[in-house]
Amino acid sequence: MPTDPAPTGRPPEPVSLPDDVVEWTADSSEELYQVSGWGAPYFSVNDAGRVEVRANPNGDSRIDLFELTEDLRARGLQLPLLIHFSDILAHRIRRINESFLRAIQECEYDGDYRGVYPVKVNQQRHIVEEVVRFGAPWGFGLEVGSKPELLIALASMRDSAGLIICNGYKDRSYIETALVAQRLGRTVVIVLERMEEFELVYAGSQRLDIKPMLGVRAKLTSKGMGRWAESAGDRAKFGLTTAELVQLVDKLEARDLRSCLRLLHFHIGSQISSIIPIKNALQEATQIYVELVEMGCAMGYLDVGGGLAIDYDGSKTDFHASRNYTLGEYAVDVVSTIQAACLKAELSMPTIVSESGRAVVAHQSVLVFDVVGTQRVQYRAAAKPDEGAHPVLHQLFETYEGISPKNVQEFWHDACQAKSESESLFRFGYLTLRERAHAERLYYHCCCRIHEAVKMLKFVPEELQEVEKRMGSIYYCNFSVFQSAPDTWAIDQLFPLMPIHRLDEQPTVDATLADLTCDSDGVIDKFIDVEDVKRTLKVHPVTDDEPYYLGMFLNGAYQEILGDLHNLFGDTNAVHISTADYGYRVNHVIKGDSMSEVLRYVAHDPERMIESVREQAEDAYSKGRMSLDEMRRLMENYESALEAYTYLAPASEPDSER
Ligand SMILES: *Cc1c(COP(=O)(O)O)cnc(C)c1O
Repeated sequence: MPTDPAPTGRPPEPVSLPDDVVEWTADSSEELYQVSGWGAPYFSVNDAGRVEVRANPNGDSRIDLFELTEDLRARGLQLPLLIHFSDILAHRIRRINESFLRAIQECEYDGDYRGVYPVKVNQQRHIVEEVVRFGAPWGFGLEVGSKPELLIALASMRDSAGLIICNGYKDRSYIETALVAQRLGRTVVIVLERMEEFELVYAGSQRLDIKPMLGVRAKLTSKGMGRWAESAGDRAKFGLTTAELVQLVDKLEARDLRSCLRLLHFHIGSQISSIIPIKNALQEATQIYVELVEMGCAMGYLDVGGGLAIDYDGSKTDFHASRNYTLGEYAVDVVSTIQAACLKAELSMPTIVSESGRAVVAHQSVLVFDVVGTQRVQYRAAAKPDEGAHPVLHQLFETYEGISPKNVQEFWHDACQAKSESESLFRFGYLTLRERAHAERLYYHCCCRIHEAVKMLKFVPEELQEVEKRMGSIYYCNFSVFQSAPDTWAIDQLFPLMPIHRLDEQPTVDATLADLTCDSDGVIDKFIDVEDVKRTLKVHPVTDDEPYYLGMFLNGAYQEILGDLHNLFGDTNAVHISTADYGYRVNHVIKGDSMSEVLRYVAHDPERMIESVREQAEDAYSKGRMSLDEMRRLMENYESALEAYTYLAPASEPDSER
């Protein structure tokens, strides 16, 4: 994209503003970024025009996110910073448990609710420990999908009465660990996901003489929706088909073990944005549950898996970034569906288990990062080509002058055609490099005008939306999409993004965000919108003397562990904050990776690297190509860079700090 076009002879055209210009306030920003849609009750915009965090919506404490960021920087913590709000996590756990308890009361359901948190969604030690601690009043447990996760669960559930649900691929040592853990007084359910696992568990329980507490995962025919539709349905990786379920019951009966089968589990995928597939799956699973009881299995637990969605764009629709139901409705649907089937079959009500991950941890963290550079689109008027200039230049200029909202699409085609003609003419030697540059500038001016004209349109044709994106400025940001928000790249996940300050000022720049990786995928060019998605984000012009901070919200689920070391940008600095009477407290600081830590992950040895560079420097010195001062400078920079944070350091501060 061209930057600053050359100055031209005509005065700049005034940017047209709507007639009814009203003063921009913090409320205007709240509306523009749909903060109450995705952020309530935790995030809002305060009168000072900054994002405000009410980590505990039942308390009075409010944290100004901009001030918090400045305070954390003053402590020597560099951006990008992942800020965890413990009180938000506590509140999410409370809400999920209370929603189920309320649904149970409302429906007069004669059974309990015992939620579990799936460790895979965010495995960070502090998060898991907090989930266990905050969930203790409700006997909230953990779901594990692998052996290492089981090890985490056993270590962190020391004093907890919660369930441990074991899913995932299981080998002998996974199964033995799960069985023996019962002796620690934990309630550990081994969920059979494949038929072969039964024999493994059976052999293990014989060997150890421990009676297993078994669950079974059903492969439902009701599919989820959207991206994770494949998690359920006939082709799903895990789960027993109905034929296999019957076979399992027969095997259990033959060994007199039907009393061991205690739980039915299903999981139809994550972020299920519509309530309909959830209800369908519930009905199917409940029916299977009833049948299993009637076939003589002990049962007693029905585990409805995860899938509870959150509203990333605040639209309250079944769009993939949203959901068309509330937590309360979800709980009532789960409870009432199970109740109806059990009443009909005259069975006692099972304890309901759910495995919500995203809905528990997404809200509690915010990534704050700074803008380190911009490439801004400047609106200036184009110069008329000289009399003797090439016809293609005149043609572009005429197109430029004629653009109006009525003919944008036609003139867009004309501009594109003239531009490609100028490229051909250059290839065959009919246009000089200077003339071709002039053509490019004129084309760019056409785009600017088209961009302005498009704003007046009610309906924007698809090809012109492309102009909009192309005319957006680029804001270069100090973070790595691959490390901090891999799902934006991998599955087009949308996270709410917005400046965290200056919100009482009208944002006038349309920008896409580019990260520090030199990868064309390291760009965010899709943003939440009430309808569908936007291609650019409204931001403020950046000045040299003031930092500009953006926040990426609701990214506490799945992102941290998926993150990779693209271009060797490592883990970000992270802090855990809790609210206190006078404001907030920093409970834990977890330093992000240093350059040498990241290099070791990929099997480089920083000592050997230093040695190699030093030898080359000595060599250059001995041959008189390098002075001692230059050698010292090289080695100092090289060695301190190895110990520094992998992200960009502010120009004014020492590099070694991180
Ligand atoms: C991933 C997973 C979950 C969590 O799903 P969410 O949609 O994040 O709530 C729950 N159960 C199982 C078996 C899973 O694999």
